[in-house]
Amino acid sequence: MRVAPLRVPGFRRLATTYTLNELCWSFGTIALALAVFHRTGSALATTLLFLATTFFPALVAPALTARLDQVPVRRALPALYLCEAALFGAIAALSTTAPVQVLVALALADGAVAIVGRALTRAAVAAALEPSGTLAAGNKLLNVCFSVAFATGPAIAGLVVAAAGTAASLGVTAGLFALMAVLLAASRSLPAAHGNGDRFSHLVLKDIKAKTTREIEADVVLPMLGFVSDIGPIAEWGMTLEKDEIVVNQVMETGRAGVWAAGDVTTYPGKLKLIACGFGEAATAVNQAVHWIYPEKKVAPGHSSNMAIFGQKDD
Ligand SMILES: Cc1cc2nc3c(=O)[nH]c(=O)nc-3n(C[C@H](O)[C@H](O)[C@H](O)COP(=O)(O)OP(=O)(O)OC[C@H]3O[C@@H](n4cnc5c(N)ncnc54)[C@H](O)[C@@H]3O)c2cc1C
Repeated sequence: MRVAPLRVPGFRRLATTYTLNELCWSFGTIALALAVFHRTGSALATTLLFLATTFFPALVAPALTARLDQVPVRRALPALYLCEAALFGAIAALSTTAPVQVLVALALADGAVAIVGRALTRAAVAAALEPSGTLAAGNKLLNVCFSVAFATGPAIAGLVVAAAGTAASLGVTAGLFALMAVLLAASRSLPAAHGNGDRFSHLVLKDIKAKTTREIEADVVLPMLGFVSDIGPIAEWGMTLEKDEIVVNQVMETGRAGVWAAGDVTTYPGKLKLIACGFGEAATAVNQAVHWIYPEKKVAPGHSSNMAIFGQKDD
């Protein structure tokens, strides 16, 4: 078994919660089944409970999954697990007093949430592992974890119920779900469930001073800033250079006849790398270039205040 997926950010937490989820299913289902059977003495009521936790939720889960698939995993999965913690907390508190119908209704709600949680986890795992080519290995690892939890969960749950009772087992289930919610909410590296290979769908903007974060949808990031000039092949064009910057004179001449430069790429005594300076340098360079191309034209820039739009008539 390859362990490469374990090095992918976010995968370990997703695998841990996926495994715990399966354990929780055993804990919750066995304790709840015993509680219902104890209250009703009816095999049919217990069967109805199983249908409520698996069959009926399966009818609503796809629509719910499609809706939550649009929400970033870091928000959706902890919310789902918190919801399950609350549901099992309620079931544990009401297991001996509330009408059995209430318990079955709560189990049905949890069944739907549980299916969505599994689906989102598998989608998030795929989004996390696909870019590094470790999805196949990750799936195998997940399946092993799932099988171990599936095989041992009922035995562990049975022991807990025998030792501490159904309410305690249901309480343990609620606690485990709460732990899973915290584990995922604290992770900074979960991918979007609807991530697409090496593409992403959201950005997290962090305000360093206010210490707040904000998520926005985005298809791509184009970093367009930097402090280091790298003029590449222009270095071979015969201009005067100084530390990868083009040395210009007061009229933005570069040292090669007919070539002017402006902006951050240039340097001269007192140079300021500011937007306003770049604009001024560009105006100087362009006017000088026009004069070089058309010697008959004077270096006399037009003023926008002389434009027709401001009422100036053609001369
Ligand atoms: C983080 C940061 C913050 C700043 N904040 C301020 C501020 O608040 N106020 C202010 O006045 N100034 C600020 N500046 C400085 C200001 O951004 C620059 O002075 C200004 O952008 C320079 O404009 P420019 O057109 O000369 O160069 P740039 O804005 O760098 O534009 C050069 C463009 O050429 C492109 N390019 C590079 N090589 C090639 C190539 N081989 N082929 C094709 N395209 C190429 C680059 O991608 C880039 O888009 C800041 C700079 C940085 C880095």
